[in-house]
Amino acid sequence: MADTVVPVSLALKREQYANELWRYKNAEGPQQQYFRMGLAAVLWRFLATHEGCIADGCAVPGFGIVTTVPSTSGRTEHPLRIMVSDMVGATRNRYRDLLHPAPGAAALGRTASPSRYTSLALWGDDVLLVDDTWTTGNHAQSAAAALKAAGARSVAVVVLGRHLNADYGDTADHVEQARLRRFTWGTCALRNWNHG
Ligand SMILES: [Zn+2]
Repeated sequence: MADTVVPVSLALKREQYANELWRYKNAEGPQQQYFRMGLAAVLWRFLATHEGCIADGCAVPGFGIVTTVPSTSGRTEHPLRIMVSDMVGATRNRYRDLLHPAPGAAALGRTASPSRYTSLALWGDDVLLVDDTWTTGNHAQSAAAALKAAGARSVAVVVLGRHLNADYGDTADHVEQARLRRFTWGTCALRNWNHG
């Protein structure tokens, strides 16, 4: 479905970053604005450092269109769309509102399916698709599949947080390894060297 999926960081259940990814949507008033500005800055800096690597990884010259995975909760002004279409200078001028939930999408349950969303027609465009939280991936992968079905040539997904629950299965080992590696802005998921 997506040609590549790049998380900015892990978002561990009950820890700070997962909490901020919830609050930017659900907090009220000035607190919500505070979290949106923080996450917009995170996305902006990440793309400034690594968007070129993501394009290279997909073997495309760049992404002419940026869009977001729409909310299925019925929010009309989704905060992620506000960030990508307005707050983040690196994406603002390329944003297009392409995707909408398809009627009957709820009946699809938890499977990834191109029929979960409808997309405006594309003509071989390379699309950068942004989502906030990746849990099972079924929303982002469904959106990527819908973009491809609508005519996108390549679709790269950037997610702000890869949600993980350390209590689940063997996730604790993975989380422990990740903590040893630490987060730095220059650590690249696609290239074997630090940059930026
Ligand atoms: Zn990079």
